[in-house]
Amino acid sequence: MEFLPIFVDIRLRPCLVVGGGEVAARKAELLLRANAAVTVVAPELCGSLVQDRDAGRISHRARVFQPSDLEGSALVIAATDDEALNGEVSGLCRKCAIPVNVVDAPELCSFIVPSIVDRSPVIVAVSSGGASPVLARIVRTKVETLLPASYGKLAALAEGFRERVKRRFSDLAQRRRFWEDVLQGPAAEMMLTGREQAARLAVEVALQRDTPSSLSVGEVYLVGAGPGDPDLLTFRALRLMQQADVVVYDRLVAPAILELAHRGAERIYVGKARCDHSLPQDEINQILVRLARQGKRVLRLKGGDPFIFGRGGEEADALAEKGIPFQIVPGVTAASGCASYAGIPLTHRDYAHSCVFVPGHLKDGGDLDWRALAQPRQTVVVYMGLHALESICQRLIGAGLSAETPAALVQDGTTQSQRVLIGDLASLPTRAAEFRMRPPSLLIIGEVVRLHERLAWFEGADTADGTALKAVG
Ligand code: SAH
Repeated sequence: MEFLPIFVDIRLRPCLVVGGGEVAARKAELLLRANAAVTVVAPELCGSLVQDRDAGRISHRARVFQPSDLEGSALVIAATDDEALNGEVSGLCRKCAIPVNVVDAPELCSFIVPSIVDRSPVIVAVSSGGASPVLARIVRTKVETLLPASYGKLAALAEGFRERVKRRFSDLAQRRRFWEDVLQGPAAEMMLTGREQAARLAVEVALQRDTPSSLSVGEVYLVGAGPGDPDLLTFRALRLMQQADVVVYDRLVAPAILELAHRGAERIYVGKARCDHSLPQDEINQILVRLARQGKRVLRLKGGDPFIFGRGGEEADALAEKGIPFQIVPGVTAASGCASYAGIPLTHRDYAHSCVFVPGHLKDGGDLDWRALAQPRQTVVVYMGLHALESICQRLIGAGLSAETPAALVQDGTTQSQRVLIGDLASLPTRAAEFRMRPPSLLIIGEVVRLHERLAWFEGADTADGTALKAVG
């Protein structure tokens, strides 16, 4: 280890920045975030430093650096574009043992400034020892994605109970176990999602127990996995996938996404294709309740968004009824994903002012309001519409849409095997059969489909018959 990582208390301590440019401004900003008393010495200041000076956030010595500037400094950063001056500052500081950093010159530094992830009071500092600041920043970005923006709140939660937990568990190992359970369990999730009162209550309950075991009721995460491309997961989805004890998933969840779940997590497949309801919804609900009651963190992973034709509402309702804590994480729904990856804007000022999502078939065999769907300047997106494609197109024509209204089918949207078939209400059903379109496919109807020709950007696979896919139309 070439450098010892430490965190220095510089609150109200005099810190000197030599230089008045943008780089100096960034360093001054960092020092200000740690509540230092910052002085900048430079003949001229850049715009943001002028603002800081005028706001009284920094003091300014408007002249070139003099050795006497160092007097009383707790820490010095040299950020000028004058190498000789930077070297002089460094040499002087080292002589009087003042910690000094020279931007982009590790050999002149007695300390280096890490890349940081700020979840105050939790701070993660990353350094490459000066070898590659870009590498340090890349590592930092990875950490950023793993720590939710509100992560610092966990420290507040812990702080509030610290003394009581200490009294309750005098044994160090027990205490540690208690905190591990709290900070990785449902109480933490509640805190991170803004349910602070519930979080505190959960810790209270845990404190009352005889042994510091995990909280007896787990939690269910109803998570939208998006349409297929793992890159479209949210940060929260990814984080919950990595901490879940068990993953309950269905057919629409892409294997590449499932792979991102914690390796040790148990996986339970609950199926669901249109004609193959492997498990009735009631049974899925019961599985979720049972697992949560065993104290598990249950990830209910659903294709697209849980609240758009995903029965997320029914599952959440079953959990609410049994008093099981849950949270719902939105996902990119098939309409957004397929539309973007096929270059078909769902609304457009020239072509469509509204957009409706409908299912291709209804639970009770009921019928859609075809007149309401057959409106000008409206995009209609049909989920689960492949099976009844022909009748859907006919009904829309019957309700007043022109047979030439453009329509698209997007199969396996956002994945490497995406296929886009373009036609109109009259031609699409025949073409879909001809090109053997398979589920999952999304039907998009409306003038916006015309834009595909110019806006298609994503390279999908080939058509089933091997001809280049993209614009089959
Ligand atoms: N909750 C999901 C929808 C579930 S209904 C969501 O928000 O996306 C299942 C239907 O979604 C499928 O029949 C198909 O019409 C559509 N769908 C889901 N993923 C898709 C994909 N990758 N490509 C095309 N259609 C998809």
